[in-house]
Amino acid sequence: MFVGHYGVALAAKRFAPKTSAGVTFLAVQWLDIVWAILVLVGWEHARIVPGYLPASSLVFYDYPWSHSLLMAMGWSWLAFRLFKSPVLAVCVFSHWVLDWVAHAPDLPLFRGGPEVGLGLWHFRVATFVVESLLLLAGLWLYMRATRPLNGLGKLAMPAFAVLLLAVEAGDLWGPVPAKIQIVAISGEAAYLLFAGIAQAADTLRERLPEEPPIRLHLNVD
Ligand SMILES: [Zn+2]
Repeated sequence: MFVGHYGVALAAKRFAPKTSAGVTFLAVQWLDIVWAILVLVGWEHARIVPGYLPASSLVFYDYPWSHSLLMAMGWSWLAFRLFKSPVLAVCVFSHWVLDWVAHAPDLPLFRGGPEVGLGLWHFRVATFVVESLLLLAGLWLYMRATRPLNGLGKLAMPAFAVLLLAVEAGDLWGPVPAKIQIVAISGEAAYLLFAGIAQAADTLRERLPEEPPIRLHLNVD
């Protein structure tokens, strides 16, 4: 999964209004950020097989440190300990859950353990629809939890979401990269760039004041 993860990052604003979008954008892709580094240093392995799945040409055959269930829980726990933020911990762990929906059964529960994956990537259009809906649902929650500081603040995050959908379409229907190292480097650059753009767009909006708790009035005659 790619831009669908960012739906979680945007929705996080609703639950942790003080946490900036740049940080949540990094959190939801943390497992892939680690993966790209580990592939480049040769600790984890994947290969490119064009047409392997309709929505992915990547064969992930060795990535227990970034993408096992056990390590995802570990990374999530680390985020919680470092930032004292349950929402950031959920953001980190959500990556594994959404990858589990998308990937072929290649996600190990632990190193050398059984591998799981529901295989949404067998369906290219469905992959695009699901990722788009996740992103747009997150955007909707984000827009409702914040208000613009100026005219640019009205447009920046929705425009960024459109850009992300275009990137997703390019990823699904565009050319297949020649080397896994290119995937890792371009992926890493994209994760950092997108977090930077999200951070910039987020500064153009402010969180809404705390809503008073809903009180239920019951009139009993
Ligand atoms: Zn991943």
